[in-house]
Amino acid sequence: MISGRVDGIDFTMRERSDTYTITVDASSNDGSETVLATGNITDLGSAQALDYRHTLRFIVAVVRTARRRMTCRHRPGPGFRFCPWCGTSMIDPTLPD
Ligand SMILES: [Zn+2]
Repeated sequence: MISGRVDGIDFTMRERSDTYTITVDASSNDGSETVLATGNITDLGSAQALDYRHTLRFIVAVVRTARRRMTCRHRPGPGFRFCPWCGTSMIDPTLPD
């Protein structure tokens, strides 16, 4: 288990068997957690050992991406098919180009 704080957000990464889960505290009072990512442990290194440098960079990226998605107000200019900050589609994919 790895716990820490990224940009003021407390996270926990737990590994069990061959899977991992990254959560953040949903509320500081009730102890509930929000799952940000789950996956196979090979995402974080080899099956035999975690690559802690890669794992910490991965966790920071997951937490910062989640934060951007929660706070994004979509302000890209014309021509963007996806929001460069949060990845949300800026076009209706059912309409022709
Ligand atoms: Zn956005």
